[in-house]
Amino acid sequence: MTSNEMINIESPATKRIALVAHDNMKREMLEWATEHKDELKRHTLIATGSTGQLIADSTGLTIERMRSGPLGGDQQIGARISEAGIDVLLFFWDPLEPQPHDPDIRALLRIAVVWNIPVACNRASADFILSSPLIGATYQRRVPKY
Ligand code: PGA
Repeated sequence: MTSNEMINIESPATKRIALVAHDNMKREMLEWATEHKDELKRHTLIATGSTGQLIADSTGLTIERMRSGPLGGDQQIGARISEAGIDVLLFFWDPLEPQPHDPDIRALLRIAVVWNIPVACNRASADFILSSPLIGATYQRRVPKY
């Protein structure tokens, strides 16, 4: 990268929300998604494989599923973020257990910061993001010029 120039890109009012939960956190995310099913229905949902399957089966929400996280799903979501195709990341990573795909996890969190999207790594943060007035409004995101 040669310049620090920044530009705005627009996150639409209907957000593209990515959901990722490690195995020990899946119950927490499922409870959260069930609690917020009606709000989530207004947005476009994308998820890693098992997280998406679980939430779709239990709630009936429509979710675009990527590969399972350890098989590349985190990287697919990261790539989508870099194409400006995801506006919010809800990533309940496991703070107590090491994961085989730790480099992918770090990469996903890094790219979410680069592309200036809101990230929730726990339930309280997800509550704050979903209840923000900005979740249902367009938002100009400041990002590196590309
Ligand atoms: P999964 O992937 O939803 O396929 O379990 C999540 C992850 O481990 O990153």
